[in-house]
Amino acid sequence: MDADEMSEGEAISEWEMPDLEANYAQKERDYYRAKMAKVGTVIICPWCGKRLIKRTYQHKFCSTTHKDRYHNTINPEKQARARCFNSRRR
Ligand SMILES: [Zn+2]
Repeated sequence: MDADEMSEGEAISEWEMPDLEANYAQKERDYYRAKMAKVGTVIICPWCGKRLIKRTYQHKFCSTTHKDRYHNTINPEKQARARCFNSRRR
């Protein structure tokens, strides 16, 4: 009955990420998995979710662009949280 409302919903931009916190958590999880994975096994680029073979010990991203983006996006957030954590340490 409300078909018009449904089609309007599809117009939402992909740039809007309502669940940003969950998104970061997923990226951090993929980053950790990629970090711990053995060379030669399949890892998931923490930034875009692409599957790739881990080439070197430090290899975690499909490209340096995604590596930079990940660190620019995740780290400030993480550091702020860590600082908050430390100041509240008992
Ligand atoms: Zn990527």
